[in-house]
Amino acid sequence: MGVITLGGRPVAMSISCRRYICACGCVMLVVPRELSSWRRYTLVTIALALAGVAACESARGLRARLAPGSTFEEGWASLRRWLRAITHGRLFRWIRGISELAGRRLAERASVVIAETSGLDVRSCSFESRVIAGVMSSSS
Ligand SMILES: [Zn+2]
Repeated sequence: MGVITLGGRPVAMSISCRRYICACGCVMLVVPRELSSWRRYTLVTIALALAGVAACESARGLRARLAPGSTFEEGWASLRRWLRAITHGRLFRWIRGISELAGRRLAERASVVIAETSGLDVRSCSFESRVIAGVMSSSS
């Protein structure tokens, strides 16, 4: 769910994923690299949302831009959920130096680190392009 490219129209989609059972009994769920297991939204959507929060974009505006469908709700609960997941190491656990951060500061730090991992030149790419490249080249 969400967007896959910058400026893309947000869509809802359903994807069937393979599950593998290990000899020890554990089950592995294999998802496309655009997704993170147990997350409804694409990684690009999550990364762009973090960049938007960092840039003080309203939750309503971000939701309209990145989530499919319309709603009368004021905020976007997913934003808080993703920030909490980052804090607790359930999302982008490779991002360091966030223990003291919350809210917009956390979103700012996370999106800057994601953009940095893209390796793209700051002068030739927009921040959002670097965030997308970064999130696709790293693990969730
Ligand atoms: Zn196993």
